[in-house]
Amino acid sequence: MPSALCAFCPKQEVSNEHIWPRWISRLLAAGRKARFDTTLTRLSGFRKSWYSFDEMNLTVNVACERCNNGWMSNLENLAKPILSPMITGADKTVMSIERQTLIAQWSVKMAMVCEYMEKEATRLYQRAERERFREDQTIPENHMVWLAHYRGDHYGAHHSSNPLIFGDIKARHVGHYTTMAVGQLAIQVLSVRFRKSASKASRSLWVRPGPWESTLQQVWPTIRNHPIWPPNDILTQSRFEVFEMRFHHAISGPAR
Ligand SMILES: [Zn+2]
Repeated sequence: MPSALCAFCPKQEVSNEHIWPRWISRLLAAGRKARFDTTLTRLSGFRKSWYSFDEMNLTVNVACERCNNGWMSNLENLAKPILSPMITGADKTVMSIERQTLIAQWSVKMAMVCEYMEKEATRLYQRAERERFREDQTIPENHMVWLAHYRGDHYGAHHSSNPLIFGDIKARHVGHYTTMAVGQLAIQVLSVRFRKSASKASRSLWVRPGPWESTLQQVWPTIRNHPIWPPNDILTQSRFEVFEMRFHHAISGPAR
């Protein structure tokens, strides 16, 4: 049987990789019982979930050892000192462009890794995008990443991924969004594939109403006016539950 190839480089065979990096398990499970869970939803509405305590044991065959010990490990080492204080608390910080970019890159890496738990036909990222990402962590087109200061019921790391289909009868666009709550940090990555030549109007996503202005901080595309972390309002559990499902499937639905 042929071995699976690395998602991020052309020739290497994959090794088994933890979905959540070990440093997050260690950070969260120190002194308190942490729960780790992940849920993938398909377009049909079918859902798969996994959970564990104190360490996210879930692994996926996604990257080769060279990627694992090379660029992926470098990215974790850069992200860890920035994300750790945001996961355990919410001290005031200026979000520089560099900081926003690094958090966005780390979040997109998580979305790419988590997506690999699905069969190839249901994946959105293309091999060329992942290989480009390996080279210099270029975030593919039509991505947005937001952060929030989460204070809800999940203690540990929570992840879910939802597919999207929207547009109008002539042009259906696809996408997915990944939502994470890691300690006190919530992250959402939205990734969309627009049908070429589709009208501008058809590209509007339908978003459930919520206090998104005051609770979310956009980090990708980056914001230039040195935003201050954390946002004014906390993302409570009830808000988080709307946040996690905030984009609708909508074919010729109302704009915005
Ligand atoms: Zn590789």
